[in-house]
Amino acid sequence: MAKKQFKAESKRLLDMMINSIYTHKEIFLRELVSNASDAIDKLYFRSLTDDSVKLAKNDFYIRLNLNRENRTLTVRDNGIGMTKDELEQNLGTIAKSGSFDFKKENETDGKVDVIGQFGVGFYSAFMVAERVTVRSRAFGSDEAWQWESTGASGYTIEPCDKDDVGTEIILVVKENEGEEKYDEFLDDWRIAEIVKKYSDYIRWPIKMMREKSRPIEGTDKDAEGHYKAPEYESYTEDETLNSMVPIWKRDKKDVKDEEYAEFYKSKFGDYSDPARIIRSKTEGTATFHSLLFIPSRTPYNFYTKEYEKGLQLYSSGVLIMDKCADLLPDYFSFVKGLVDSEDLSLNISRETLQHDSQLRLIRSTLERKIKNELTSWLRNDREKYEEFFKNFGLQLKMGCYASYGMNRDLLQDLLLFHSAKENKYVTLREYYEAMPEDQKYIYYAAGESIDRLAKLPSAERVLDKGFDILYLTDDVDEFLLRMLNTYGDKDKEKEFRNITSDDLGLETEAEKEETKAKNEENKALFDAMKEALGDKVTEVRLSSNLKTHPVCLTSSGPLSLEMEKVLNNMPAQPEKIKSEKVLEINGTHDIFPALRRLFEANDTEKLGVYAEILYDQALLMEGLTIEDPVAYANNICKLMV
Ligand code: ADP
Repeated sequence: MAKKQFKAESKRLLDMMINSIYTHKEIFLRELVSNASDAIDKLYFRSLTDDSVKLAKNDFYIRLNLNRENRTLTVRDNGIGMTKDELEQNLGTIAKSGSFDFKKENETDGKVDVIGQFGVGFYSAFMVAERVTVRSRAFGSDEAWQWESTGASGYTIEPCDKDDVGTEIILVVKENEGEEKYDEFLDDWRIAEIVKKYSDYIRWPIKMMREKSRPIEGTDKDAEGHYKAPEYESYTEDETLNSMVPIWKRDKKDVKDEEYAEFYKSKFGDYSDPARIIRSKTEGTATFHSLLFIPSRTPYNFYTKEYEKGLQLYSSGVLIMDKCADLLPDYFSFVKGLVDSEDLSLNISRETLQHDSQLRLIRSTLERKIKNELTSWLRNDREKYEEFFKNFGLQLKMGCYASYGMNRDLLQDLLLFHSAKENKYVTLREYYEAMPEDQKYIYYAAGESIDRLAKLPSAERVLDKGFDILYLTDDVDEFLLRMLNTYGDKDKEKEFRNITSDDLGLETEAEKEETKAKNEENKALFDAMKEALGDKVTEVRLSSNLKTHPVCLTSSGPLSLEMEKVLNNMPAQPEKIKSEKVLEINGTHDIFPALRRLFEANDTEKLGVYAEILYDQALLMEGLTIEDPVAYANNICKLMV
């Protein structure tokens, strides 16, 4: 029979699997058992509404079978089964789910911890088997098919005989190879141990015939009636290897963190331990168990449209939905886990679920729990929280910004921003409480990087006064703070203020008067400069925000310079948006008398060149691009020759 080829990605993965140095080869069994259990879930769920399923709840099971002579280990289930197409689809290709985003960097001499990284399920069988045969009959079908493969060279598929619905996976276990011992996977004691370790919570019985021995009755006494060592006989007994109690229903004190971590990794396709485990039981109007996890890394597709949020939803232990999106608000979409409710109807549909009041209650309870957990995390383990925030902080900020700040009370105190003074993350509360008496505003600067922001001309004056600045580097940041507008205790709220806005409230009344007078004195000079700059700026004037730098740009309108940049960078921005820019000159800098001299000498042309250069320099310092770099270069040359 003709061999069929695997799709390219699958072939590569298979190659790696076969040559894998992965030390926990034993996890292949967890993967096969978990697939079997899913298949049973599907058929059982079907049985609730479909009378043609003849099995009752207690009829479902997974059976393991060992045959040392033939070197086979068989995993059998009476679940939903697979049709010919499904066999080819599911076992001939990898990652319909997209979880397999293989990247070259992960490769080291072709030896990759690929299972550890991707949890690639079925294929892991090839770590321990030289041949894998899958025989399956799908529910509702009267034909059975056999899929077989010895690895990357391809697979065959042909009809076979199989009386009952379900799937049987037969592994021919590899021979021992030097250090690599495979015989252990033919040992019933070892197999029982692996099942206990990884699959104890599986809710269907995992059965295996086990060889045991017992003393033969009456052989423990000799002819005179004295006790002696008895004779033994061997017998086989069918044993259920797993306790079947779901991990979220076991006594809390009996479950170790490692067990939760194992469970998390196998269920939710992550290769790292979770950063946080939140388990609880709620009683009252809504009675449910929940087991939630916060991942320790950002899923590769988290900030894309492909990412699907949601929790697994169980009704009294039966999985009824794999990703129930309605259980999680968007701003907590990074949370993984499950909810097991006793009050939900089993055959609830996606549509009716949305309007289910139980579900709404569960959702709001979970929301509170997650928030409390994050708050206590922030208080008690700052370092870990900061790591979390690097992964998912953006999501919290967007959540806070969304819907006009509807969730600000819930989220604003979970946010962290970079403090210029402390050079580390601070919360708004920490900033607020550290503010000196005479500080009017909560200052911030927005731009591409902390380094850049630290060099902003206007930062110097603010920091000199002893006031801190929040350095914002995410696009959403400034929009968020603008939307929040103020922060602080009731009637003592402080307004947020961008350090590039024209009024920073740093001057005393007397200083203000002085600047005003000086501006008036030099009005003609500034008007001439403004004339040269045209509509690039709305005004040229003396600055009260500068210390050592010659110039800066401030914005006088509602849009800051950074917002202009962010908005114009957005796709589908039909017209360029412009902020109202003011060119501010440092009156104590040597450039100022130079400008005055040109003006007094009536050298309008040179004054114009100076104005252009100063404007371009200010743009550069703000991290903005200059409109005409060639003109800028030419202007500088004019001064050199
Ligand atoms: P995953 O379980 O992560 O989807 P696998 O490679 O383990 O990836 O399995 C691929 C698919 O093959 C499963 O999603 C399922 O549809 C199907 N499958 C695997 N094992 C069985 C089984 N024992 N019974 C029915 N379907 C199965």
